[in-house]
Amino acid sequence: MKYYSTNNNAPLVNLHEAVVKGLAPDRGLYMPETIKSLPCSFFDSIDKLSFQEIAYTVADALFGEDIDGDCLRKIVYDTLNFECPVVKVSDNIYTLELFHGPTLAFKDVGARFMARLLQYFINKENATEGRQQQVNVLVATSGDTGSAVANGFLGVDGIHVYVLYPKGKVSAIQESQFVTLGRNITAIEVDGVFDDCQTLVKNAFMDEELNSRLKLTSANSINVARFLPQSFYYFNAYAQMKRAGLEKDLVICVPSGNFGNICAALIAKRMGLPVKRFIAANNSNDVFLHYLNTGNYEPQPSIQTVANAMDVGAPSNFARILDLYGKSHSAITQDISGFAYDDEQIKAGMRQCHDLYGYVLDPHGACGWLALRQGLDEHEVGVFCETAHPAKFKQTVDGTIKADIPIPKRLAAFMKGQKQSVPMPNSFEAFKELLLS
Ligand SMILES: *Cc1c(COP(=O)(O)O)cnc(C)c1O
Repeated sequence: MKYYSTNNNAPLVNLHEAVVKGLAPDRGLYMPETIKSLPCSFFDSIDKLSFQEIAYTVADALFGEDIDGDCLRKIVYDTLNFECPVVKVSDNIYTLELFHGPTLAFKDVGARFMARLLQYFINKENATEGRQQQVNVLVATSGDTGSAVANGFLGVDGIHVYVLYPKGKVSAIQESQFVTLGRNITAIEVDGVFDDCQTLVKNAFMDEELNSRLKLTSANSINVARFLPQSFYYFNAYAQMKRAGLEKDLVICVPSGNFGNICAALIAKRMGLPVKRFIAANNSNDVFLHYLNTGNYEPQPSIQTVANAMDVGAPSNFARILDLYGKSHSAITQDISGFAYDDEQIKAGMRQCHDLYGYVLDPHGACGWLALRQGLDEHEVGVFCETAHPAKFKQTVDGTIKADIPIPKRLAAFMKGQKQSVPMPNSFEAFKELLLS
């Protein structure tokens, strides 16, 4: 399978190159040149298959041409060592809980898959070149990405991860998920803000000396190896709905920031998944909603909200959505509608859902619940993604629903761990020295 760049100004590449490069040289996003449909027989019997079996069938259609079958199966089965259950919230409204992975957020699926796929390609490179070169993954984080990537790559042979994060700007819960790991993970506490961390990483990729001495790559969320595997759990959600006899007129609602997660759902539909339509739920960063309403895409500076993983003013995956629909606004609005909520509405939604149904939402999932309530027609059944466990946002959740929600064991375990980050000034020279040491 070849991958093209959404900017249409870069050569086609194979999966290996798309994964190692992340971003195309023309700064576009890689997209598969063709998207295979899965046969009707697969959907007819999907309710008899396990999550891992379903995911492997989907992975084989996406990646099967480029990876040996047994290796791909192992990558898929290793990635999905946790469940993504669909849970009833109220009549016609269900939630796809994506927070049962190691860092309690949906990004675990993509990060775990990418780590294993990268390892597969690195091993192949080392075997043909007859050497053992380590690959260094550089990632800047304002919180969530760092934990998913660090844990996704934890203990993966041949790969070392450097997580750069801004000192004092990341919540204690988030920080604990990547500074306590050790092993092949180095957390670097930068005396600066998130943008400084991002600049240090970008400069490292452009530095000739570093690149001649070290093998560097990024684990950015736009990487095809992180974005495409997110389609697995939509197929599995459909299987669960079918088991319950609720798969007709299915609407999927995704709380969205960079629009990678919803884009994976759109790919799933393109592969044949019988979903009627989609709803994109936003916080006050409503650039996509504005596009749906007007046909004009006008990126904005991001606005800080309680659903901070969705604070994106220029969603990178917008380019992928445009391409999927031949750049047609009417085709896009036929399949996707949108709603946006400010902080007060998000908190009111969390309270209402808790009071009425006893279900505790995190601020991101709350946008999804609100949008589904607002956008679902009577005869439809809706599933919204719960993208993170509410305990990751304990302060907001407790304050909003006046409760003291329990912290799951695996989150508490991170918080008990010893902080092992390396303090560093906001200086490229210092970063370079650290990488070369
Ligand atoms: C990253 C994230 C989102 C947004 O997902 P996109 O793929 O960027 O649209 C939503 N909720 C949570 C909890 C996240 O971490």
